[in-house]
Amino acid sequence: MKPSDIDYVIISHLDCDHANGLRQFKDAKNIMVARSEYEYAKKHPYIRFKKKWWDDVDLNLYDWNDSQGPFGRSYDLFGDKSIELINIPGHTAGLVATKITNSDGKYFLYYGDGGYGEKSWKEMVTSGISMDKSAQKKSLEWIRKESLDPNCVRSLACHGIEEKPEVFEF
Ligand SMILES: [Zn+2]
Repeated sequence: MKPSDIDYVIISHLDCDHANGLRQFKDAKNIMVARSEYEYAKKHPYIRFKKKWWDDVDLNLYDWNDSQGPFGRSYDLFGDKSIELINIPGHTAGLVATKITNSDGKYFLYYGDGGYGEKSWKEMVTSGISMDKSAQKKSLEWIRKESLDPNCVRSLACHGIEEKPEVFEF
């Protein structure tokens, strides 16, 4: 598979460890970044966010078009609620969780850096890197609620030490 074969690359947020490999995917058809994340990163061009990582990458900036999540801000990717990019701010402004829901209402949740692993939402420990602690806490409460929901097949953090490469089918 080549990058140009990929329809959508969904960027949870623009922190260095999530964005500095973006150029390798620049030929993908759509590289999705929340506009609020892009604006936030632009205002804070320091250690966490460096423009050079996405300077020559054609980012598809999107505005919220739906109201899911802890702050009622989400982006319905295909207009059928099957894939929602849900704003879970705190760690950064435009951080999104990706929720993939099948026709039975079962879903998979990837919450990026909304928590650093299962322990984060089980013990309600917010990550040390934060732009807004109270928003981060509210987002983590939402991640906890979603993860404990019986319809949740699996929830996954980016940096969870317990995570191993897996294929999810549901
Ligand atoms: Zn991060």
